[in-house]
Amino acid sequence: MKRIYVATTNKGKLKELETIFGELDMKVISVFDEFEDVADVEETGANFEENARLKAETIANIYKIPVVADDSGLSVYAIGGEPGVYSARYAGGEKNDQRNLEKVLDKMKGLDDRKAAFVCSMAFARPHQPTVIAEGRCEGEISEQPQGEGGFGYDPIFIPEDYDQTLSQLGTEVKNSISHRRKALDGLIEKIRPLI
Ligand code: IMP
Repeated sequence: MKRIYVATTNKGKLKELETIFGELDMKVISVFDEFEDVADVEETGANFEENARLKAETIANIYKIPVVADDSGLSVYAIGGEPGVYSARYAGGEKNDQRNLEKVLDKMKGLDDRKAAFVCSMAFARPHQPTVIAEGRCEGEISEQPQGEGGFGYDPIFIPEDYDQTLSQLGTEVKNSISHRRKALDGLIEKIRPLI
């Protein structure tokens, strides 16, 4: 079975990647499990694509391996695309999903336009080869209040287009079939299939 390296420690993301690459008969290996003391690449890019590229290319060049990395977040149109690349630490300090989503709800008080999108950029990098990028989007809107227990991050306040419940309420199976990450990965696989 062919192996594909991924640069993530997020167990949820790893599971999604295992399922999708498994369909291609490929085994996913986290670089953090395979190598010791892998540095966390700082996300200094101005957008999701720059961050995904930065992570994948840094790891590919250090370990001389082909690797997939992603960057994702929530973009709310009426507040200039925030939280955007700052999604993980929007409320400041350590990652805190609850405080982050409360900050979004706070900023949106009194705004009628609640449209938003989850965005994911996925990069496949190899040493000395051009990097392949694919983007996935999941359009929807921000609910008035958090609802549901499932998922993570901003899932309790995001209602995807064509649904009337939040991603947290809809559950993993529905989420994985419509998510920004799923779409980015499908696009990426389409592009890299001939290369792997
Ligand atoms: P990263 O791609 O791991 O840097 O994730 C950035 C942040 O975006 C996460 O910490 C979440 O706050 C948010 N995010 C990304 N994808 C999702 C999702 O599928 N649901 C909810 N929040 C998400």
